[in-house]
Amino acid sequence: MIKLSHIEKTYDSPAGPVAALKGIDLEIARGEIFGIIGLSGAGKSTLVRCINMLERPTAGQVFVDGKELTAMDAAELRKTRKDIGMIFQHFNLLSSATVYENIAFPLKLAGMSADKIREKVEPLLKLVGLEAKASQYPSQLSGGQKQRVGIARALASEPKVLLCDEATSALDPQTTKAILELIRAINRKLQLTVVVITHEMQVIKDICDKVAVIDQGVIAEQGSVIDIFTNP
Ligand code: ADP
Ligand code: ADP
Repeated sequence: MIKLSHIEKTYDSPAGPVAALKGIDLEIARGEIFGIIGLSGAGKSTLVRCINMLERPTAGQVFVDGKELTAMDAAELRKTRKDIGMIFQHFNLLSSATVYENIAFPLKLAGMSADKIREKVEPLLKLVGLEAKASQYPSQLSGGQKQRVGIARALASEPKVLLCDEATSALDPQTTKAILELIRAINRKLQLTVVVITHEMQVIKDICDKVAVIDQGVIAEQGSVIDIFTNP
């Protein structure tokens, strides 16, 4: 579902070039929950942002569902991005919009009619357990509820891939568990491919099938979670 081939990313900075990714090769199968773990500064965020081309790699190829994103022009890329949902550490919700409107937002941008939007948003509210909160504003929600909105919004365009960038790092352990369980349930129900970026081992152990360890812009190790994290 996702293939990264020799991905390099170098940022220009006032202090000179910063090599954030130095030749990443990864393959993530359809329906898998794939974890990427590493210390702060290892290149996790850059890597996940290269998958949906929020960052353009300096070199290498990105394929999602058989299509090469690195070969696309801006218009093609906009279309293909609908296949890739993303959730964030700080949720990135619109504070002046209700739960319903936040989830509806990408559909509205895509020009969908209000009736069709309602048809999509209502089951999503149910899926994430927020039917009763549709008319509330983000400031009225707990962190876990905000992330449920983030998840529903990410799913609104019916993506094939869900990217989770430190999606539970701002949550307490109990809420983290509930959100991870929701992500796993959605992965199973929708056959969604999920990429989980985290610095927390427990997150990987809780839901990931496979894991890659990233260190200073290279993959240090990858394999099944059991093989990587079980000491011989
Ligand atoms: P992580 O998500 O693992 O903390 P990042 O991908 O954010 O790592 O960062 C990897 C490296 O790239 C770090 O050295 C960071 O300082 C650098 N970096 C990230 N974004 C930028 C940027 N926009 N400009 C310059 N350097 C950056
Ligand atoms: P606009 O942006 O054009 O003012 P809205 O986004 O407020 O429209 O509403 C679009 C549609 O979604 C309307 O049919 C509205 O009734 C419905 N809607 C808005 N909020 C909710 C909600 N909390 N629960 C159910 N339906 C809602």
